[in-house]
Amino acid sequence: MSLLFVVVLVVAVTTTFTLFVRAKDVPPPEPVPPTRHLEERKATIYENLKDLQFEYRLGKLSDSDYQQTKLTLQRELAVVLAEIEKMSAAAPAPKPPKAQPKPKSAPGIDCPHCGAHFDHAMKFCGECGKAMT
Ligand SMILES: [Zn+2]
Repeated sequence: MSLLFVVVLVVAVTTTFTLFVRAKDVPPPEPVPPTRHLEERKATIYENLKDLQFEYRLGKLSDSDYQQTKLTLQRELAVVLAEIEKMSAAAPAPKPPKAQPKPKSAPGIDCPHCGAHFDHAMKFCGECGKAMT
């Protein structure tokens, strides 16, 4: 088996695999939380701050450049954090409607004779024993 053949084979397999995975996995069906993009931005800003500190330590940045950029990033971070807090305070975890307390359409039945309420429909009332129709 020649080296060229191996390389071609690897490329072909990788490409096929990538295409297959993409076709299968995109778009992702999971719901996106409303603060997702903010969380991502927050992570990016933290990353930038880390890079900035790193470059400053390497001597790539002047003091004033470092302070200026750091301040800008920190301000941006404060805005993002405030926004996340605002959103999670305004919309605490979007609950599915079925988690709400049940309205009067709840499955249940009232005895027409004595008025006793039961969760499930029954042929005869458990209180007065009369037929419930
Ligand atoms: Zn009854």
